[in-house]
Amino acid sequence: MTTAKAADMPATMVVHTGGCHCGKVRFEVTAPADLEVADCNCSICTQSAYLHLIVPAERFVLLRGRESLSTYTFNTGVAKHHFCATCGVKSFYVPRSHPDGISVNVRCLDPATIVSMQVKPFDGRRWEEARELLGP
Ligand SMILES: [Zn+2]
Repeated sequence: MTTAKAADMPATMVVHTGGCHCGKVRFEVTAPADLEVADCNCSICTQSAYLHLIVPAERFVLLRGRESLSTYTFNTGVAKHHFCATCGVKSFYVPRSHPDGISVNVRCLDPATIVSMQVKPFDGRRWEEARELLGP
């Protein structure tokens, strides 16, 4: 028998659905029912009040709306800020911190599958400054 610490046990995963305000962009994301999300204080997350659920890319499926997405980039251009060209909502994007993953905006998930949500602050503003000190 192998033993596993509780911290190593995968949380109960569910398929959440979500999308943008007008409904052109819809997606599925597999994640725990009890969500841990990040509240980032960097320049763009502050302005958009974005709440991050970061998942590996294979746990995200874009159901429809690829043709409706516009992409905004700034600074290093690593983050791909996809937003709906019709309603302007950024329901998911490719974050600079996880360029191989997806950050889903928890505010854009359908609430039915969310059991609980714990919000943790992320000091993205300071991280940005630290990166700039290191040069491009
Ligand atoms: Zn939209």
